[in-house]
Amino acid sequence: MSRQRTGLGTNQEAVRRHNLGTLLQHVHRAGHSSRAELTSIMGLNRSTIAGLVGELESLGITEHALPAQARGGAGRPSSGVGLSDSGPFVIAVDLGVDRMDVARVGLGGVIHERAAAPIVGGSEAWQVAGSVAALVRRVVEDAPASAPLVGIGISVPGLVRRTDGLIRLAPNLEWHDVSFGSIILAALGVDVPVSIANDADLGALAEHHRGAGIDIDDLIYVSGNVGVGAGIITGGMRLEGAGGYAGEIGHLRYNPEGRLCHCGNRGCWETEVGAHAIARAIGIPEDQAASLGEVLAGYREPTPELRLIGSHLGHGLAGLVNAFNPQVVVLGGYFRALFRLVRVDVQAALADRALPAPLESVTLALPGLGADSVLLGAAENALEPLFIDPVASLGTALVGVGTKLAG
Ligand SMILES: [Zn+2]
Repeated sequence: MSRQRTGLGTNQEAVRRHNLGTLLQHVHRAGHSSRAELTSIMGLNRSTIAGLVGELESLGITEHALPAQARGGAGRPSSGVGLSDSGPFVIAVDLGVDRMDVARVGLGGVIHERAAAPIVGGSEAWQVAGSVAALVRRVVEDAPASAPLVGIGISVPGLVRRTDGLIRLAPNLEWHDVSFGSIILAALGVDVPVSIANDADLGALAEHHRGAGIDIDDLIYVSGNVGVGAGIITGGMRLEGAGGYAGEIGHLRYNPEGRLCHCGNRGCWETEVGAHAIARAIGIPEDQAASLGEVLAGYREPTPELRLIGSHLGHGLAGLVNAFNPQVVVLGGYFRALFRLVRVDVQAALADRALPAPLESVTLALPGLGADSVLLGAAENALEPLFIDPVASLGTALVGVGTKLAG
């Protein structure tokens, strides 16, 4: 994100492009803005804003629009900035454990088209890429001919190297050191920027920008997606770690007397609140662990087994609250359904173990984006270059993608 901005230099053209990207980011976050709002937010004069807005319009990204309050006829007409329907878009891919979701997402986080398919256990990366490519072709079919594809954002439940998106380990897919970006481009037969990141990190990103964590700078998104991971935003910045592997909270030692974990250690938190552990505790076949969220959504009342898991969840979250002092912890993946059932037990266990000071300010929350946090986070990640330098980003974009991919 922001670390790439430092490479722009300090000359006037770089500053102008930076302002152009920042202005676009404001419109993207809000979905709509006015020149007056942008003038005040960006602290630039009206003629500079008018120039930037004019450039975004000429690039086909934004269009003149009336502010929302004026549309009903009550407010006074004013110079609004809206997002163009045929503006740039990205492809977002959420590789789950047993299914993949693919969407065509425009600025404003608008999902224009989506498709899903199952992932067969033990699939090789090229096989999964083939299925993703088929879904991508489907979702771009009706894209406006002039709309540029800026990039592809992919979410993976695993460890992803920040520098190049190499998937170091995706335990549930049984992938080691997979360069999925080049595999997917080969399957599609096109060349566009591909960004790959960890599912929990992307869930945190989307919830921070347009979900339960808007305007909240200290947020943790905890993802239950067979394994357990966290995306951490602290002081408004993503906490990524040196290599990009931060947030593997599922492997914190939780119960020294506990079960062996697939990572080789004993008693990791994941062995108590991971999908396989929950499946075992509530007596469903472990091969249904990947669809645990749907299974839990079918419960009307919490069982004693689920209440105990709720306590394990709260006790583990206490460690996160003590370590990072978040304002909001968002419970995503199958934790959404679990938390609805055993909220009282999770809260009580958290209160029991967390230090009083950080406990005071923390709220446990369901994702504001429902089941789409990770998918929309993948889209946000792919849109990022557009907010650093829209002109350069459009230079690497692909126009007429519906036709190019159909052939
Ligand atoms: Zn482990």
